[in-house]
Amino acid sequence: MGCHLSCAKGYANMAREAASIGANTFQFFTRNPRGGSAKPIDPSDIEGFYELAETAGIETILAHAPYTLNPAAAKDETRAFAIDTLADDLARMESTPGQLYNMHPGSHVGQGVDVGIEKIADAINVVLAPEHTTTLLLETMAGKGSEVGGRFEELAAIIERIELKDKVGVCLDTCHVWDGGYDIATSLDDVLEEFDRTIGLERLRAIHLNDSKNPLGARKDRHAAIGEGEIGAAALAAVTAHPALRALPFFLETPHERVSEYGDEIALIAEARQAYLV
Ligand code: FE
Ligand code: FE
Ligand code: ZN
Repeated sequence: MGCHLSCAKGYANMAREAASIGANTFQFFTRNPRGGSAKPIDPSDIEGFYELAETAGIETILAHAPYTLNPAAAKDETRAFAIDTLADDLARMESTPGQLYNMHPGSHVGQGVDVGIEKIADAINVVLAPEHTTTLLLETMAGKGSEVGGRFEELAAIIERIELKDKVGVCLDTCHVWDGGYDIATSLDDVLEEFDRTIGLERLRAIHLNDSKNPLGARKDRHAAIGEGEIGAAALAAVTAHPALRALPFFLETPHERVSEYGDEIALIAEARQAYLV
């Protein structure tokens, strides 16, 4: 379990921060989340990261693509920018081989979901190369606006079109699926069964653990702190304890100001999940 950390001070610092709050993993943006160029990677920072990660028991880290990228864009230059950025990120990821890289699939902006799916898959086929060791994750979305990936079938359709399928997985965001209408609070088993039927549970590689400010099916995407939203702390603790999920890395993307508050939240979940571990 871990949280989202600022990448501004480098990899070693993120490992240090994660360790300081009892996290054994963390998520970070590869660059300014609104896009723009990334800082060059400093090999001595990566070395420092591996030393600290070893002591802290950090094995998995999750990089997050800028959320403004749209590989499904109607405009050619917007789509080309997304493809260039994804390719650059995947190249940078090789400085920490074998890790996870999460992206929002994209928005079809009125072209229709089928065109969106096709464009996203085509973009991924352009950027994924056989020599990459990273697993690219498609995030389950809330279905806000024209977002693609609000239904499991849409993610399955994207993956279906990807050539290097062994390099692709899914990151399930609890706030997003809830907002998308999947009732993980009262029907977690059913939701996971549906995930397994459409995408396959073997593709599920990470969980974004967030409560939601909005009711089931709201298609809004507003994260709440654990226990301060509509899903509730008990249901989210049950998610972390579910036999099909408990071995996955969990990442908090809850609204907090200070890193220490994530430490409190991790402790809260660790305590609450005990009741669901059988
Ligand atoms: Fe995300
Ligand atoms: Fe998320
Ligand atoms: Zn979100």
